[in-house]
Amino acid sequence: MDNCLFCKIVNGDIPSKKVMENDRVLVFHDIQPAAPVHVLIIPKKHIASMNDVQAEDLELIVDIHKAAQEAAAELGIAKSGYRLINNCGQDGEQTVHHLHYHLLGGARLGALTGISSSHA
Ligand code: 5GP
Ligand code: ZN
Repeated sequence: MDNCLFCKIVNGDIPSKKVMENDRVLVFHDIQPAAPVHVLIIPKKHIASMNDVQAEDLELIVDIHKAAQEAAAELGIAKSGYRLINNCGQDGEQTVHHLHYHLLGGARLGALTGISSSHA
C-alpha cells in the first residue's frame, strides 16, 4: 500500500535490520527498542489493524505465531520468555497502521500496565 511505512520496509524501499522472513511474514528489529530484544513481526500483506483481520487471514495469524517462536529461538529468548503485543487503534496507541506484533524479551518485563501516567 502506498504511503505505508511497513509496506515500504517489506518492499525494501526503507531499510530494516531483518531477523527472518518467508513469503508471508517479515521479522525485523524495532528502531526504538523498548527491551533488550524488541522485534516487530508483520504480515507482508497490508492489513491496517487487528480490526481488519478477516477469517481468510487465519493462516497468516498462525504464520505470525510460528515466526514469533522462530525469532524468539533465533534471538536466544525462547527459554527465558517473552511478550507478544499488538497495539490496536487510538487507545491501544497504534502508531503504524499496518498490522504488527511486538516481540519483547531479554529481561524481566514486569507486570502489564494499563493506563500510563501521561494519559491518566
Ligand atoms: P505501534 O506503536 O504502532 O504499536 O508500533 C510501531 C513501532 O514501529 C514502534 O515501536 C516504533 O519504534 C517502530 N518504528 C517506527 N518507525 C520505524 C522504522 O522506520 N523502522 C523500524 N524498524 N521500526 C520503526
Ligand atoms: Zn502496509
